[in-house]
Amino acid sequence: MTTKKYDAIIIGAGIIGNCISYELALKGYRTLNVDKLSGSGFGSTAGSCAIIRLYYSSPEGVALAREGYYYWLDWNRYLNVSDPDGMAFYKNTGAMVFKSKGNHNLVKVKESLDALGVGYIDLSPEDIKNYIPNPDLSSFHPQKRMDDPKFGTPTGKQISGAVYVPESGYVSDPKLSTHNVEMAVRQVGGDFMFNARVIDILKKDGRAGGIALENGTAIHAPVVINVAGPHSYLINRMAGIEDQMNIKTKALRVEVAHVPSPEGLDWENTGIITSDSDTGVYTRPETGNHFLIGSEEPKCDPLEYVDPDNYNTDFTDQIKTQTMREAMRLPDLPIPNSPPGLVDLYDVSDDWYPIYDKSSLPGFYLAIGTSGNQYKNAPVVGSFMAKLVEYCESGNDHDKDPYAYRMKYIDHNLNIGFFSRNREINQDSSFSVIG
Ligand SMILES: Cc1cc2nc3c(=O)[nH]c(=O)nc-3n(C[C@H](O)[C@H](O)[C@H](O)COP(=O)(O)OP(=O)(O)OC[C@H]3O[C@@H](n4cnc5c(N)ncnc54)[C@H](O)[C@@H]3O)c2cc1C
Repeated sequence: MTTKKYDAIIIGAGIIGNCISYELALKGYRTLNVDKLSGSGFGSTAGSCAIIRLYYSSPEGVALAREGYYYWLDWNRYLNVSDPDGMAFYKNTGAMVFKSKGNHNLVKVKESLDALGVGYIDLSPEDIKNYIPNPDLSSFHPQKRMDDPKFGTPTGKQISGAVYVPESGYVSDPKLSTHNVEMAVRQVGGDFMFNARVIDILKKDGRAGGIALENGTAIHAPVVINVAGPHSYLINRMAGIEDQMNIKTKALRVEVAHVPSPEGLDWENTGIITSDSDTGVYTRPETGNHFLIGSEEPKCDPLEYVDPDNYNTDFTDQIKTQTMREAMRLPDLPIPNSPPGLVDLYDVSDDWYPIYDKSSLPGFYLAIGTSGNQYKNAPVVGSFMAKLVEYCESGNDHDKDPYAYRMKYIDHNLNIGFFSRNREINQDSSFSVIG
């Protein structure tokens, strides 16, 4: 098993790790994805809401999402593989984003959408009634915790409108999509090793030289890529590079609720994605005619950073808080006593933008800090990370002369230096899952 030679080891077989190895393998790299779990996409990718939306707070974020969107539209052709488990698919629903003070009434978002020719409709508060059932258009901002006596009480004004982006939706099954990529990687010669925990990064001649596994095995390769999701900071510590990064990553515990639709409403088939930074929640239609409700991290909610190998997997009050926040907007929404849902982890960076970069250890690369919002970008990240590896391994200094990525589907050059580990904290960020 270890006698085989590899050009690149990818730590992690989530959606991003697999997309990176796919693109490297297409270029002729002999790749190995190593994952401590028993299959592809079993880490935080499995819990993903897999929402594909184009609104981000930075033009770079919008461009990346726009490019990623086309890969999902073209999924089967992109992978060119037949997966015996079936192929994941993109379902278009449209997305409505509420204007708020927090997102500067979407002025910058609209500029970025305009720059890339993304169509949208500017909605008045009244128009919103055509998109969601029987909404309460009051403003509830600033958000509160459930134990605040004013929780759920409108704060006087009406919300100021919304933007509806029809090109938005979600992928049917994030775990299956990751398996699809594994099949495509295998078809072009890449290998996978599961149930294998990396415990150290090997070094040779002042650069990355491979990995050491918990079972005592050492595997050598001149390129090692950290795509370990919420465990990314632990892998960086093994490589000894964390202290030399300006932006760091941490594992954040999050809860997502699945709540039945109001009676008589076929939300599973007719529903849209909503992002409501006035109440502090986002939603997506979910199978079983449910509303899936996630948090947009309002300031009143404490952020719970955890040890990714030892955290509380039970629901807390948070799941009910999120459900009640959505019910402020949709008073017909039933509020179950203990709504079903899931508990999972985001790999959050200091400014909630991802780190796609080289590191201070030559040959050791980073695709981390995905902050709960990079599933949608995985194929395009795979594409530019493979090119970044080539760029650096052929002697270019990405820190001084950042790699400019020419996108495939849209007429746009993306400066990959934007995602540098050594950037200053991006103050334009929403500092939430919105990015
Ligand atoms: C609840 C939730 C909702 C989300 N919703 C959305 C959304 O709607 N839209 C969107 O775009 N994004 C969303 N995201 C974010 C998105 O899912 C992630 O950005 C993406 O899945 C990250 O993929 P990854 O491959 O980097 O990481 P992961 O899927 O976490 O994969 C990392 C892998 O590394 C492995 N690993 C870690 N440490 C080791 C080790 N020491 N040795 C070996 N293997 C190791 C893990 O087992 C894991 O399988 C959401 C995330 C969550 C948790």
